[in-house]
Amino acid sequence: MIHFKRVNKHFGRFHVLKDIELDIGEGEVVVVVGPSGSGKSTLLRCINRLETITDGELNVGGVTVNDKATDINKLRRKIGMVFQHFNLYPHMKVIDNITLAPIKALGLPEKEAKETAMYYLEKVGIPEKADAFPSQLSGGQQQRVAIARGLAMKPDIMLFDEPTSALDPEMIGEVLDVMKSLAHEGMTMVVVTHEMGFAREVANRIVFMDQGKIIEEAEPADFFAQPKEERARLFLSRVI
Ligand code: ADP
Ligand code: MG
Repeated sequence: MIHFKRVNKHFGRFHVLKDIELDIGEGEVVVVVGPSGSGKSTLLRCINRLETITDGELNVGGVTVNDKATDINKLRRKIGMVFQHFNLYPHMKVIDNITLAPIKALGLPEKEAKETAMYYLEKVGIPEKADAFPSQLSGGQQQRVAIARGLAMKPDIMLFDEPTSALDPEMIGEVLDVMKSLAHEGMTMVVVTHEMGFAREVANRIVFMDQGKIIEEAEPADFFAQPKEERARLFLSRVI
């Protein structure tokens, strides 16, 4: 589903991603961990071309992302992204936040878009908030709306960039639970998170990054029990 082949990215002179090799299959849940500034967000953002790679090849769902001929909007419709800050439209009701893209980008009739939105609001556990405005919701609820909004586009891949980092501790669990059920339903997911419990329990694979490189790739059980690389060991000793 996602293939990085010797991908490099520079911001000006700064070499942010270095020879990235990574293959993610359909239905896989890959958790990306590593110190702040190691390139995790940039890696994620390359997948839907919010950032462009400098060289190498990046293929997503059979499409070469860094090809000039690639229809970027078509690519992005297949990829949902959830950020640390929920980025909901404050002046729009929850339901309208969710139906906006399906109506505008997919051309779905309003009635169908609303039904789809309600389906996903139920899935994330807050159908009763459909007519509320984002400011009337807790952080955890807003993030669940953001997830429902992503799902309403029926993506093949969901990207999560520290989705619980801006939440009060008591709200982290409800968001991780939604992500967990999504993983169990077979969604292909790439998740940047510091929630090591989630990583251990849900990930098929952990990717550890440091200074723009993938330093280690392992199954969670192996990674948490005995990381091979010293830098991974050091990182784990700090976060667990
Ligand atoms: P992480 O998500 O692991 O914290 P990022 O991918 O956000 O790391 O950033 C990796 C490095 O790239 C950091 O040193 C950051 O300052 C730098 N960086 C990120 N975005 C830009 C940008 N738009 N321009 C220049 N440097 C950037
Ligand atoms: Mg980041």
